[in-house]
Amino acid sequence: MPKRIVIIGGMAGGANAAARARRVDEHAEIVVYERSGYISLANCGLPYYLGGEITNRNELLVQSPRSFKKRYNVDVHVNHEVIHVDPARKTLQIRDVSTNQLKADRYDTLILAPGAAPIRSNLPGIDLPNIFTFRFLEETDMMFKRVSSGEVKTAVIVGAGYIGLEVAEQLHRRGVNVHIIELLDQVLPNLDREMAWPVAHQLIQHGIQLRVRASAEGFIGGDKVEKVRLGDGTEVPADMVILSMGIKPELDLARQMGVKIGSAGGIVVDDRMATSIPDVFAVGDAVEMPRPLTKQAERIPLAGPANKQGRVAGHFAADCNAPNLMRFQGAIGSSIVRVFDVVAGKVGLSEKEAQKLGLAYQAIYSVRTDIAGYYPGANPLTTKMLFDPDTGKVLGAQIIGKGGVAKRIDVLATLMHFGGTIDDLAQLDLCYAPPFNSAKDPVNIVAFIAQNVRSGLSRVIGPAELDRDYSQFRLIDLRSPGELEAKGKFLSGVNIPVDELRSRLNELDKGQPTVVSCQVGLRGLIGERILAGNAFADVRNLTGGFHIWNWYNQAKKLAGDNAVDVPGK
Ligand code: FAD
Repeated sequence: MPKRIVIIGGMAGGANAAARARRVDEHAEIVVYERSGYISLANCGLPYYLGGEITNRNELLVQSPRSFKKRYNVDVHVNHEVIHVDPARKTLQIRDVSTNQLKADRYDTLILAPGAAPIRSNLPGIDLPNIFTFRFLEETDMMFKRVSSGEVKTAVIVGAGYIGLEVAEQLHRRGVNVHIIELLDQVLPNLDREMAWPVAHQLIQHGIQLRVRASAEGFIGGDKVEKVRLGDGTEVPADMVILSMGIKPELDLARQMGVKIGSAGGIVVDDRMATSIPDVFAVGDAVEMPRPLTKQAERIPLAGPANKQGRVAGHFAADCNAPNLMRFQGAIGSSIVRVFDVVAGKVGLSEKEAQKLGLAYQAIYSVRTDIAGYYPGANPLTTKMLFDPDTGKVLGAQIIGKGGVAKRIDVLATLMHFGGTIDDLAQLDLCYAPPFNSAKDPVNIVAFIAQNVRSGLSRVIGPAELDRDYSQFRLIDLRSPGELEAKGKFLSGVNIPVDELRSRLNELDKGQPTVVSCQVGLRGLIGERILAGNAFADVRNLTGGFHIWNWYNQAKKLAGDNAVDVPGK
């Protein structure tokens, strides 16, 4: 008897599982039930379709039920929702969404790939027409139609996560006046606040009305939404609202089946993607697994893990004796987003995540160019990296730039996958010619800085610590007077350009705790070494220099905190 493999959900996780199962077992019966009208939809491309960057809608449909049948001999039932599973009898009940008719099926192995649904909170007026979430092609088609008709002059996006910001940029492209309402004190909450500032700045520069620390409390309108009421009582006009407030795993079926749900709110799976119920696997946004870095259960709702988990589950569902190399080792968590001219990438842990987990870490910043600095088209690349001060293991990184961000995030993700340290990172032999890189890649440089700190050659201070203890230090700004005028100044401190430092040591008290800074930290290290070599007792280099100090304070200002004003910048 051929094995019957049933898959619930036909997107990233489910479609991959189906294709893999077929490659493993040519004779299995493979069936996919998908509630929406499509399978294998490239939902990550939806914002770009809405904005017109992707012009051909068909490009988003990677497969159709027909093409899937033809190539993989998989029976795909779109518009079919599985409403009940009996794991003891291995049976399912399915509802045809178009006709409401019910039908039954059975399985030998089952794969749950139901994904996660956008959060749609129960606010007054939430059911008014023109309030959308962003997940399926059907709702994107509706938004596309409304925007194309010209009826959407103003749109409000609730939530400044990566999907909200992608949609903001795309609606702006279509000439829509965009407001973003974000509850937290920054955009892109998975980044540290100062690293998210350049992204917020881009939005503001492009005329997006950004409000942080603001909440949508209700929606007002008649035939359709007209206004969003905020927590402070103000009202924002809106012809369309997009809720982008996060997602929650679709767990109804899993709960009803008695599948174990874990502490992170996802289906608990092992490294074969097997759930707590025999012959039932689960993948994608609905599952949680220990993150290799922290060993803590986490949900990482991204397309990369969902695709790979689908492959693993499909393999084991077809062949329970699959080799160990098929097992899913967990996701480190790598992500990237483009917002107008800025790209923000992240891998592993942010500083706030490391703090929450109570981990020992050292954070450092580095600012380089993405390609050789002298080559036309070079742009700054700012990296924040965290490492374990005891072991030197890299814990995470955030990179902001225009070009070359993805490449560096991927190098760091690869290093971290293998448990690499800052010493490994310093050694990496990466390709170089001026149009592509510098002879020392920015990730080599950030590792050099980390080595300086870990070896004790350099002591750094971060912007938050300097902000807290500003009055306890004498600050020496090592930049040239011209740079101070052009780039902005610290609130107080003495300006001694680095090349004059050796000859002006007699102006300085060797016993006073001192912070040195330049624009990005490199001359700071030179100044720090000059002072340390001349018996100054307590010297620290401001990591990332004035560049990061400025981001830190601008982010504070945006959040409405009591920020130090950085004149003119
Ligand atoms: P989904 O893709 O959500 O698919 C689950 C499917 O299961 C759904 O189609 C649903 O209809 C179906 N289903 C649920 N319950 C049932 C049922 N009972 N019966 C039948 N069918 C059911 N990730 C990135 O890494 N990079 C990006 O740039 C990125 N951009 C994104 C942009 C957007 C607009 C969105 C929405 C997501 C984006 N993601 C991105 C996230 C990524 O798309 C998801 O992580 C990935 O799709 C998860 O795959 P999945 O198969 O687990 O779930």
